[in-house]
Amino acid sequence: MSIVLRPARVWSNGVRHEGWAVRVAGDRISAAGPDVAGDETVDLAGATLLPGLIDAHSHLLLHPYNETVWDDQVLKEQEAYRTVRAVTHAQATLRAGFTCLRDLGTEGAGCADAAIKRAIDEGLIAGPRLQIATRAIVATGCYGPARAAYRCDCAFPQGAQEAGGADEIVRAVRLQAACGADWIKLYGDYRVGPHGETVATFSLDEMKAAVEAAHSLGRPVAVHAACDEGMRRAAHAGADTIEHGYGGTRETFALMAKNNVALLPTLSAAKAIADYFGDPHQRAKHAAEAFAEARAAGVVIGCGSDVGVFPHGDNARELELMVAHGMSANEALVAATSVNAAILRVGRELGEIRQGCLADLVAVDGDPSVDIAALRKVRLVMKGGTTVE
Ligand SMILES: [Zn+2]
Repeated sequence: MSIVLRPARVWSNGVRHEGWAVRVAGDRISAAGPDVAGDETVDLAGATLLPGLIDAHSHLLLHPYNETVWDDQVLKEQEAYRTVRAVTHAQATLRAGFTCLRDLGTEGAGCADAAIKRAIDEGLIAGPRLQIATRAIVATGCYGPARAAYRCDCAFPQGAQEAGGADEIVRAVRLQAACGADWIKLYGDYRVGPHGETVATFSLDEMKAAVEAAHSLGRPVAVHAACDEGMRRAAHAGADTIEHGYGGTRETFALMAKNNVALLPTLSAAKAIADYFGDPHQRAKHAAEAFAEARAAGVVIGCGSDVGVFPHGDNARELELMVAHGMSANEALVAATSVNAAILRVGRELGEIRQGCLADLVAVDGDPSVDIAALRKVRLVMKGGTTVE
């Protein structure tokens, strides 16, 4: 039993194929080309068929900060409540055509991401394929909720696991891997300078110890870094991806390109936060400038939005901003498909439309490789050969 999807065109890896069709058998693509036949045909006239989209920086356990500020989500919302919310977030994400996420930390919700991933994999709930980070690891005292904002005789939960010194950090890496982390997420800097400015937190040696322990366990490392020094240490320590990178200099982007460290620019997070709370530090402007600098330096740039800061299912915002800040629509789509699949080490299975790949597909009206706005006009989503309701 095979299904043939017949759109106006098939787009894969930056190339448009007018008049192609795609045959799906079981959970895989069994053929893609101009002369494809099968048992059943789905007519998608006027649509473009793309590989399922990937967002390589999400937080399913968070919801927009203009609904509830981050501190209140961490301190006042029970883990069970947050998990229930995340179920609806996963569903909205999949319906928007994002069939795979790298979810970079539960932000105070323990290992709830591992439970969500399991429920999706078992078919209990609808959602994208997940690579997860469980709890991120932060330098002790260098994350939130900030102790100075509350009575200092109160012990509050933190949004990530605290660790200091190579021994503690190595232990934390191994614990997160044991809890189900596919990626180890570190915070390389945070707003803990004397005037709330962003400064590097983990030392280079601490970061190297974390990366070595993670890689030894087969887990790649994602480092949150918004200031240049945090990014520089991450790139020297052997991190696999750097998240945000708003304050990166030309030299640091050159180092990232040389060491093959990918950047996830999270332009939509900078913009959303500026829209909610104002932007005294001009983060959105710096994010756009850094994005241009990283492109000029030849850094591998994936598509990662930091969704959760803004509504789940609205992940296409990141591609729209990538285009607004200088990428072609075609390049942004490549970032969100084959580049992201390579970053997530699933390039043989996902991110392209070709025989043998998993049948994760999205059809949209119009041609998003010319006009990125077409990504919002989702006609059909398929994950592993099953049409999403
Ligand atoms: Zn994030």
